[in-house]
Amino acid sequence: MSQPNKLAFAKKLLAPREIEELYRTLSEVMPGRTPTAKGPKKQPDPFRSCVSCMLSAQSRDANTAAASKALFALADTPQGILALDDNTIATAIKPCGLYNMKTRNLKKMCTFVVDELQGEIPTTREGLMSIPGIGRKCADIVMSFTFGEDVIAVDTHVHRVSNRTGLARGKTEAQTATSLEERSPTWALRDGHFWLLQFGKKVCTSRAPKCPDCPVNHLCKATAATG
Ligand code: SF4
Repeated sequence: MSQPNKLAFAKKLLAPREIEELYRTLSEVMPGRTPTAKGPKKQPDPFRSCVSCMLSAQSRDANTAAASKALFALADTPQGILALDDNTIATAIKPCGLYNMKTRNLKKMCTFVVDELQGEIPTTREGLMSIPGIGRKCADIVMSFTFGEDVIAVDTHVHRVSNRTGLARGKTEAQTATSLEERSPTWALRDGHFWLLQFGKKVCTSRAPKCPDCPVNHLCKATAATG
């Protein structure tokens, strides 16, 4: 099998029986959801999960964790964060980068939660996405990790794997999430994120996918894109 370059997304989509086989194979070789799976960056409640997810944009996990920890040491409620001045917030979240913009967005988020939601974080995807700064990925991550719903959250790894294999199609992570939800069997929604994420980190990696050793290379449509 030829080795696809890192942008070789499939032109063809997997057939339903191939999707079933791909998920079954991944379920046998990759870890699924664990009882200890927690919210974004291991935050214990939906508000902190939303904040942490927002802070994670273009930031490494360790830097997001450091920023979240510093911020939540000062305040961990929307009312508490609104009581902080911008410089204090920016200094706390500096490790995650883009801290001035993220400070402004954080204030907008907290204002919306207090004024429009009476301080309560919604439990539906649509409700979460109504919050400024929360897009499809963050909403699905909160749905999956914090509320324990059967949702495949699409991050960069899940997006890449889905498009390479032909499991789903989408130019953006949000488009891929919609496609994946439509095309995945119900039984795969609970653990699908975890299988695809680990598969993307360990086998179907961004720069050097391990195609010769890949357990689903007989199904994968990526070669069709590379010839
Ligand atoms: S799914 Fe497997 S065969 Fe396909 S690109 Fe990724 S590593 Fe290669």
